[in-house]
Amino acid sequence: MNLILLGKPGAGKGFIADILKNEYGFYHISTGALLRKNIAEGTQLGQVANGYMAQGELVPNDLVFDMLKDEIGKMKSKNCVFDGYPRSVLQAKSLAGIVNIDSVLFVDVPDDILIERVLSRKTCLACGNLSEIGQKDTVCKKCGGELVTRADDNLEVVTNRLNVYNESTAPLKEFYADKIVVLDNSGSVEQTKQKLNQIISDLLKKYGENI
Ligand code: AMP
Repeated sequence: MNLILLGKPGAGKGFIADILKNEYGFYHISTGALLRKNIAEGTQLGQVANGYMAQGELVPNDLVFDMLKDEIGKMKSKNCVFDGYPRSVLQAKSLAGIVNIDSVLFVDVPDDILIERVLSRKTCLACGNLSEIGQKDTVCKKCGGELVTRADDNLEVVTNRLNVYNESTAPLKEFYADKIVVLDNSGSVEQTKQKLNQIISDLLKKYGENI
């Protein structure tokens, strides 16, 4: 089963993807994490992408799509979760040319909560793991790497990322209207996990694995 995670910046797509990866064995493809890895490694792609990401703008699709195709080539699991791609109808059409999408999970959180979450979260430099919101940890619980505030997790850039979402990404809800399942992530971690487990077991029953 191939799943897309859709949602505003800070809605918790990374958190949901982590559960799908660790508890259900999904192969997790996060274009944001792949781009940040390229920036950290100083690749040519990373250098170009950095300029767009620092402003909260989308990186041009031809670059992101090439990177995505490479990553899809490495896929070992029968279930895949796409996190951060597509971000526009153009990208959704590119993706449709190479994989079949079974379902789109829309991670729903009101704007005031998500801005607060983005501004208080930290990300591991080594493995990309997100720290628990509100914790003052400086070291990643998973790998011991350094936790930092993402360069684009500040009010000005987050505001632009929300504008970019509303303009370019929000139309995907209509594009995928027949595949959308809404997951409310405004409550506690446990509440979200319960809802997610129900949704995923229903979807796996319906679509099974891509064999
Ligand atoms: P994320 O980690 O998904 O929040 O993405 C962080 C940033 O990476 C975004 O604000 C964009 O600048 C860039 N990015 C990630 N995914 C894409 C994509 N599919 N298309 C264009 N830019 C992207």
